[in-house]
Amino acid sequence: TTQPLSDLEISQNATMRPITEIAEIAGIPQEALELYGNYKAKINPLKLNNTTSSAKVVLVTAISPTPAGEGKSTVTVGLADALNQLNEKVIVALREPSLGPIMGMKGGATGGGYAQVLPMDDINLHFTGDIHAITTANNALAALIDNHIQQGNVLQIDPRRIIWKRCLDMNDRALRNIVIGLGGPVQGTPREDGFDITVASEIMAIFCLAKDLQDLKKRISDIVIGYTYQREPVFVRDLGVEGALTLLLRDAFKPNLVQTIEGTPAIIHGGPFANIAHGCNSIAATNTARKLADIVVTEAGFGADLGAEKFMNIKAMQGGFKPSTVVIVATARALKMHGGALKTELKAENVEAITKGIENLAKHVDTIRNFGVEPIIALNRFITDTEEELSAILNWCRENNVKIALTNVWEEGGKGGIELAKRVLSVINEENNFTPLYDVSAPIEEKVRTIVQKVYGGMDVHFTDKALKQIAQIEKFGWDALPICMAKTQYSLSDQPTLLGRPENFTVTVREIIPKLGAKFLVCLTGDIMTMPGLPKSPAALKMDVDAEGNAVGLF
Ligand code: ADP
Repeated sequence: TTQPLSDLEISQNATMRPITEIAEIAGIPQEALELYGNYKAKINPLKLNNTTSSAKVVLVTAISPTPAGEGKSTVTVGLADALNQLNEKVIVALREPSLGPIMGMKGGATGGGYAQVLPMDDINLHFTGDIHAITTANNALAALIDNHIQQGNVLQIDPRRIIWKRCLDMNDRALRNIVIGLGGPVQGTPREDGFDITVASEIMAIFCLAKDLQDLKKRISDIVIGYTYQREPVFVRDLGVEGALTLLLRDAFKPNLVQTIEGTPAIIHGGPFANIAHGCNSIAATNTARKLADIVVTEAGFGADLGAEKFMNIKAMQGGFKPSTVVIVATARALKMHGGALKTELKAENVEAITKGIENLAKHVDTIRNFGVEPIIALNRFITDTEEELSAILNWCRENNVKIALTNVWEEGGKGGIELAKRVLSVINEENNFTPLYDVSAPIEEKVRTIVQKVYGGMDVHFTDKALKQIAQIEKFGWDALPICMAKTQYSLSDQPTLLGRPENFTVTVREIIPKLGAKFLVCLTGDIMTMPGLPKSPAALKMDVDAEGNAVGLF
């Protein structure tokens, strides 16, 4: 047997259409299109005449991820292609991949097999430079803060109480904690600092949640960068640099248009991680897609406990739309791991492990129902899955009244997603009872407890003394009426990565709370989750290369 083609090889064999043709299909007038070569373009939303539509938003989420892979992006793209084959006016909206995981762990975020967005290598590398612009805006602010202190510190910023960090779009653990300003009086004021990965930065979150340029600027002006010696907050507006930072983001803020292998229009814009940030593509992208299409298929990162929870409680609320339906991607392989099978045992049939591991899927179904939406399971088929294994999952769904469709978009493209597309079409015109899970005006502890109990299935929350002090301070400043952005491991419903399946009776520890007033949420750090990842022992970078013609090699 021959070796199956890699995602990169499949994408390189595909024929792309000029992006102007894709724009025409999407109904984007020429004056709203800014070309970045032949296959990428930015869309200027100000030049679209269309007003907001009644487009349906379909959210794709998943069970808790395992090393076996779930294929959420693959199914998202395949579902859009299937809807396109059924002659629906559809656009898929995705996040831009971060270079951290691309260099680190195998896997991009452009789908896989015959359900991919193109040009795959470009999108996974520097794309149209948006993430670089976000990094630059973030670090310009850091430089302006340090310069303010160097030039006399009129605002009396306490260098020990600066919470604004520098950022880089790379997994670089050596930069987590650093000391800057060494070398004497002309080199600045020495202080402790650190880097976050760009996709966890507040600028990325603001970029993804702002409605328009004015809103972007207002939110940037509201960022808290630290505290004075008198412990009063210092905002970006006090430094007077929100105009400059917004200017740095002007072009990046326009959504990017690309295409799937089957020529379905795709908008890729913004890419916050779902474990340490809010995990959804930009509101600008989703709303642009809503203006152009009847159905927008979009994805939120990791399992439904992370990306989907934040999509519902944060993005949908700030963006002014609701999910018409939610698709939960599951695979037999991943359920096997949730049921106790090891990564090395995935090829062997194991119905027993699947039957046990299904409890993880069951929890995510309950969670989506808690939001008032009836989910549809997409069972993403792998070649190694046996009929017995697939039947076990299909039967469980039937017995428990859960909608499910078997999908094979990785192998077949849109054709393999027709059943799922039909299921989606059968429900999106019905009104659902979507509501966020908590009232933002409730006390912080209560909001976090609601998420832990209703989404994670945990018993309670433990706040460390440090977190309690921070809550008191946040309340004192009147910043408490904001939604919560949990930072939690993606591997478990709990805050401990090794507890797979459906853990019960656990307590989640909140160790720190960071106010992000520009993003308009409060980040709660749980367990030992970190906002700057590290590279693994054998990083994906070791397999990558470029040939003499400039073609990418070994990029998954
Ligand atoms: P996620 O969005 O859940 O992280 P992706 O869609 O990015 O997952 O897929 C991760 C990897 O798994 C990709 O390399 C993709 O090609 C592969 N993959 C996804 N679905 C299948 C499938 N049904 N069969 C084989 N490989 C798959």
